[in-house]
Amino acid sequence: MIMQGIEMPRFRTVRGMRDFLPKHAGMMRYVEGLSRELAGLYGYEEVITPIVESYKLLAAKSGEEIKQRMYAFEDLGGRKVALRPEFTASIARLVAGKMRNEPKPLRLFCLGRLYRYDEPQYGRFREFWQANYELIGSDKPEADAEILTLTNNLVERLGLRNYHFRIGHVGILRGILSQENVAEESQNRIMQLLDKKQWDAALIAAKDCNVSERCIGILKRLFKAKGKEPSRVLKRVKEEVREYRSAVAAVENLWDILGLVRDGGVKFEMVIEAGFARGLEYYTGLVFEPYVPELDIALGGGGRYDRLIELFGGEPTAAVGVAQGIDRLILAMKKQGISPRIMEGKRVVIIPISDELKAKAIELSSMLREAKIPAEVEVMGRSVSRALEDADRKGATHTVLVGPEELREDKVVLRDMKKREQRVVEIKNLCEEIE
Ligand code: AMP
Repeated sequence: MIMQGIEMPRFRTVRGMRDFLPKHAGMMRYVEGLSRELAGLYGYEEVITPIVESYKLLAAKSGEEIKQRMYAFEDLGGRKVALRPEFTASIARLVAGKMRNEPKPLRLFCLGRLYRYDEPQYGRFREFWQANYELIGSDKPEADAEILTLTNNLVERLGLRNYHFRIGHVGILRGILSQENVAEESQNRIMQLLDKKQWDAALIAAKDCNVSERCIGILKRLFKAKGKEPSRVLKRVKEEVREYRSAVAAVENLWDILGLVRDGGVKFEMVIEAGFARGLEYYTGLVFEPYVPELDIALGGGGRYDRLIELFGGEPTAAVGVAQGIDRLILAMKKQGISPRIMEGKRVVIIPISDELKAKAIELSSMLREAKIPAEVEVMGRSVSRALEDADRKGATHTVLVGPEELREDKVVLRDMKKREQRVVEIKNLCEEIE
């Protein structure tokens, strides 16, 4: 491309960034719409927070992994800022500040783009989208059960099949490690390794913290403790951790949460894993991720974080939430061949047969839009046959041919593009005929 004598390169998107062409954008908006509708049904009110936040806020508790991958920079005022890699820090900032006096529970929803300098790969992008739900102010198992139920509801409504939830409770491992006097920093490192399924490295890290031999044996067995039947797995885990008081409480808490889900009539497949941790450091209780068999990456992630709001200067406030990964939900839908009827409405193209009828075509298009019928006017000066071909290619449901003879009697030719039939209709009846 030559511009004012300077040769311009052919620009592409920056690595890890994507354009969404109309079909994909339509899917995004569909999932977004469904997530927002669900928020309404569960009483979650939407908040909109900035994409640029203080680096300190975002780095406080997100964990080393995410901290290393932040788009961080100094703004022109010399402030260290970053593009948000997740929503929870912003929500915690709100609840610790502007919303601190709001009555609890607070149910908050937010949706938008997030940024992580991850290595781009299948299902992993540098700019991605989440729908986020946070239930703030309750430490009761019914709050955790609600977040699980809501997530199940979303996945179900999108039409996904054969999905399961990976479920754990970070209080089990943290309970053991705390009683073994492992410092929080080292606990975080161990959790990060577990998040990456590096069991052996996690055991070595625990050994380096001088935990007892007995503890190593228990950890080894816990890392392997998983199964589909909550009662069976949790009984075994409880027996294993019986000497660690808060680990036992964590098992009981998970037992209560899953009991409420089951007794509330919500059914989904789950895999309970005692050694399951999530990358974000702020989790204190339940953690979970939904999966479909066609993808080995999580569709979303959630859990309880009871200390984050306090860390940001708020009152000690219990909270539980979930981030649904919109990009991955769409990937899963594609893998399962689910294509929602997004654009199935009417699409009308109005073709003036000659130049003098252009204004009439514009007038008719306004009339259709007034009746909420999407209408496009042919603007390329094409012949009727070429314009019809183009309308067909674009998936128009109808075309309206504006010709001088029909117009003399206040009529146009309406063509049904699917049936390939056309007839002359009165302009005053055009909208009804199309409907
Ligand atoms: P997290 O905030 O790490 O708990 O992630 C929650 C969900 O966000 C994940 O399960 C993914 O669905 C989505 N997600 C996180 N990172 C990315 C990424 N780099 N690209 C696409 N989706 C992501």
